[in-house]
Amino acid sequence: MAGAATPMMEQYHELKARAGDCLLFYRMGDFFELFFEDAKAASQILDIALTSRGEHDGDPVPMCGVPVHSAEGYLARLIKAGCRVAIAEQVESPAEAKQRGGSKALVKRDIVRFVTAGTLTEEALLEPRRANLLAAVCELRGQVGIACCDISTGRVELEECAPEAMGAALARIGASEVVAPEDWDVAPDDAIPRPRTEFASEEGEARLKRLHEVATLDAFGAFSRAMLAAAGGLIAYLDHVGRGSLPFLLPPVGKAGDEHLAMDEATRASLEILSSQQGGRQGSLIAAIDRCVTGAGARQLADDLAAPLMSKPAIEARLALVRYFHEDPLLRADLRDELRSAPDIGRALGRIVAGRGSPRDLGQVRDGLAEAQRIQGRLGARPDRPALLDELLPQLSGHGALVDLLSRALVPSPPTERSQGGFIAEGYDAALDELRSASGNARRAIAALEARYRDETGIAALKIRHNGVLGYFIEVPARYGDRLMAPDSGFTHRQTMANAVRFNSLHLHEEASRIAEAGGHALAAEEGHFEELTGEVIAARAGIAAAAAALARIDVAAGQAERAAEGNWCLPEIVEDLSLDIRGGRHPVVESALARAGDRFVANDCVLSPADRLWLIGGPNMGGKSTFLRQNALIVLLAQAGGYVPASSATIGLVDRLFSRVGASDNLARGRSTFMVEMVETAAILAQASERSFVILDEVGRGTSTYDGLALAWAVVEAVHETIRCRCLFATHYHELARLAETCDALSLHHVRAREWKGDLVLLHELASGPADRSYGLAVARLAGVPKDVLSRAKSVLDRLEQGRAETGGLAAGLGDLPLFAAAREVEEQAADGLREQLQELDVDALSPREALEMLYELKRRAASTVD
Ligand code: ADP
Repeated sequence: MAGAATPMMEQYHELKARAGDCLLFYRMGDFFELFFEDAKAASQILDIALTSRGEHDGDPVPMCGVPVHSAEGYLARLIKAGCRVAIAEQVESPAEAKQRGGSKALVKRDIVRFVTAGTLTEEALLEPRRANLLAAVCELRGQVGIACCDISTGRVELEECAPEAMGAALARIGASEVVAPEDWDVAPDDAIPRPRTEFASEEGEARLKRLHEVATLDAFGAFSRAMLAAAGGLIAYLDHVGRGSLPFLLPPVGKAGDEHLAMDEATRASLEILSSQQGGRQGSLIAAIDRCVTGAGARQLADDLAAPLMSKPAIEARLALVRYFHEDPLLRADLRDELRSAPDIGRALGRIVAGRGSPRDLGQVRDGLAEAQRIQGRLGARPDRPALLDELLPQLSGHGALVDLLSRALVPSPPTERSQGGFIAEGYDAALDELRSASGNARRAIAALEARYRDETGIAALKIRHNGVLGYFIEVPARYGDRLMAPDSGFTHRQTMANAVRFNSLHLHEEASRIAEAGGHALAAEEGHFEELTGEVIAARAGIAAAAAALARIDVAAGQAERAAEGNWCLPEIVEDLSLDIRGGRHPVVESALARAGDRFVANDCVLSPADRLWLIGGPNMGGKSTFLRQNALIVLLAQAGGYVPASSATIGLVDRLFSRVGASDNLARGRSTFMVEMVETAAILAQASERSFVILDEVGRGTSTYDGLALAWAVVEAVHETIRCRCLFATHYHELARLAETCDALSLHHVRAREWKGDLVLLHELASGPADRSYGLAVARLAGVPKDVLSRAKSVLDRLEQGRAETGGLAAGLGDLPLFAAAREVEEQAADGLREQLQELDVDALSPREALEMLYELKRRAASTVD
């Protein structure tokens, strides 16, 4: 990179321009080098030395580098840090460059691949228990199309939703990378902008047809223009990232937007479904329930939890399979043992089809398919199989010929590196066996040669060794060197080291050449077999992917059954009405945490019906309100995902949308005040919830002053009760809300019980009906270690406040005769309509300025009288 505009720098800049905002890994010998800003960014993220190389415009060029052989680890860290990387490889050898352009010619380089979070296939870069998704989204004629794929397994899903529902849909998908048209003003925040022309529905459709060699997509389902446009964007991006080579993609599956229990991002975060609020799996719902023994099973479970079902028959089909395994612990244990040893064939297949497969991947496909066949035999032989199992079993078999071929062709545990050979089994190819035995003979001849030379020279320490630079050589300790230097000794000197001298001999040279020649031919033969076997696997890819998916589904069901047996969970009953009847419900995460500390979880009931659908829950802080709210939401979610639930019995009236809101959660990172976030999220419920939804609201209104907070909480409860009429649990510390029970007939009051015993507060975590008598705030403060003098001062302030409340009727004085929400709105609307009528009738041109002014005064008077 010395001097101005060297050919190398020109080449670098040309490649960097094509890499765009990706970091450019520029291959130089055994290193990938990064320059300029890329070097600064990467050295910081990777914590490696930033050096410089040559000059550019008079300034040193910042540089850092990573060794090629350990590049994967560095790539993983860069991707985790949110970077994308373009890999520029040398695409000709130095010898070819010299031949082409003389001794000074620069080796040609080209970007061979982009490595991005959503397009990884490498085993080392992927988490085994998490799907890694790429999504493309765009808008077409008022509808948002979303195409998402997991290129490690080839799954592709297309869906469509209204623009308002895009956030919830993307939250459900949880892609690690999202691409969207560059000029779309409501594109998701972190989306990678791509040319608008790539999101064209005709092109998307045409590419899908070409890819799957069909004349029409009808066989895969019906896809809207928006879905196809998104698919076009997805494939164009994959094409760009893979530099023209597309990864393995299964035929697209259409997803109807109303197939799933909808949950927005705030709900998912607050229920900590796939990751906890601290980030990471620990402490999340999935961590508490995942008993899958395979990575593919764990990924399927995460999918199920992220998108619970809405159809009673589909949920019941899954439940029947879980029940089948629940009722037979022996079968379950054997099955899980078998599954445990099944490799991740979905991902191995993904790598093979993407052209990045290794002999080990072929071995995994072989072993996984063989395991699938055994499991099919075991389960197929049993009576009374549930319908879902009968659907899955045929997908596990039918790969006998391929398994047989791979078993004959491959050694039992093939290596990940294919360039060294050694993965084709003996007996598969006679010619290869011969080449191997030739090189084996030569190796034995070399061993014999060593013994002979020791004898002849009388040097017991003589050795024949091998290294990458010299090949085979004879080595003796330095003090014997002279003995072999004699011209007639038959040895030729090659190298003198500090304490050894190295020689060659004619015989050794001959044997070494035989090894090299046979070895070279053997490698070429193995390479040829690798291509053939890969071709066979690719031809069978759809069936292999189906077997992988069937195994994952079976693992999920067996894992759910295991978890249910472990925790004494029950089979939920799914009904179509608007009830929710959970007896002895528990929170799976809190219960596990308590169990680890040796504490017991207190089970509670939640019984909602159209006549009693809104529970207002009071009681002291730390009394268990949030836990109760969430456990019921989680039980609904688990049941609709098709699993057992932590309760003694549960009847779940299907829920279409689940909302969970926590007052004033700290969300400053997004740059909005906490109260603003709380209100934006609450507004979404009021706009989207239906009668079939289930809403949990935890201390909504907490994020502002007492009056504002109470007023908002009051209005929200009324709106939920009167207008939305959905099932709802509302936890609050505003005692005043209890008065709503007088006017709202489907609302009832509950509290978490607490007792003061010998001056100490005892939280019973038990739900009881009726209003909370007091808040025990000071007792909680004492539990938390607030100093005594502060507590006693607080006590006198509280006494004074309570006295005031008794005298004036408290915060909510005067609210008793407030008309109900719906009624009040009607009155307000009617009044407003009167005003509108009067305005409409006005002939402005006919008014004198004075009349106009008077009219304005009158209108203002009327408006004021309706608002007050
Ligand atoms: P609140 O929302 O009323 O402030 P939480 O639901 O956050 O209370 O509960 C506080 C703590 O009490 C929890 O972290 C948990 O340790 C414990 N807890 C909650 N519910 C139960 C229960 N049903 N049984 C046992 N312990 C519970």
